[in-house]
Amino acid sequence: MQIKRLRITGFKSFVEPADLVIESGLTGVVGPNGCGKSNLLEALRWTMGEASAKSLRGAGMDDVIFAGTATRPARDFAEVSILAEIAGPDGADEREIVRRIERGAGSAYRIDGRDVRAKDVGLLFADAATGAHSPALVSQGRIGAVIAAKPADRRAMLEDAAGIAGLHVRRKDAEAR
Ligand code: ATP
Ligand code: MG
Repeated sequence: MQIKRLRITGFKSFVEPADLVIESGLTGVVGPNGCGKSNLLEALRWTMGEASAKSLRGAGMDDVIFAGTATRPARDFAEVSILAEIAGPDGADEREIVRRIERGAGSAYRIDGRDVRAKDVGLLFADAATGAHSPALVSQGRIGAVIAAKPADRRAMLEDAAGIAGLHVRRKDAEAR
């Protein structure tokens, strides 16, 4: 999977709509402390379905919405869109995945403009061997956590990396039926 573009509106410090076009190859993000580098990675993880506000450095999920500054009022929603090219059996397909949160009203997801469940977004990324908990997304302080992980947790990381995490979800669903 290749992420082609990130569009961020009202998410953390990205108050005005920001379009980040990601070319193939290596992309570096540089800037002074507190300029929003980690927020960028969090926007990506959040859109992939991250359900833990704490792992996004917040107390509740509404904390991802721009909280305002001395000169700018707070916003009442945040929206992030990922445009991704996903390899399939018939070549690569472009998909747009959107997550939106309204203050006090929770999150909603869309894939190519259609309302979907969080689970559908999770499966889409899991099948592409990535996702909110992918070992490919290494947040500050995470390296130590990987080293100290219990064997079962480390196995889950390897399964995420291998793109088979979605199979477990589908098997569980099938067994529950
Ligand atoms: P460092 O180099 O120190 O790791 P960084 O570039 O990773 O810095 P971030 O942690 O991404 O910086 O950004 C932190 C900034 O985001 C802080 O200024 C913080 O006030 C701001 N911020 C976080 N959440 C919100 C929010 N909900 N509303 C407004 N600003 C926010
Ligand atoms: Mg940072």
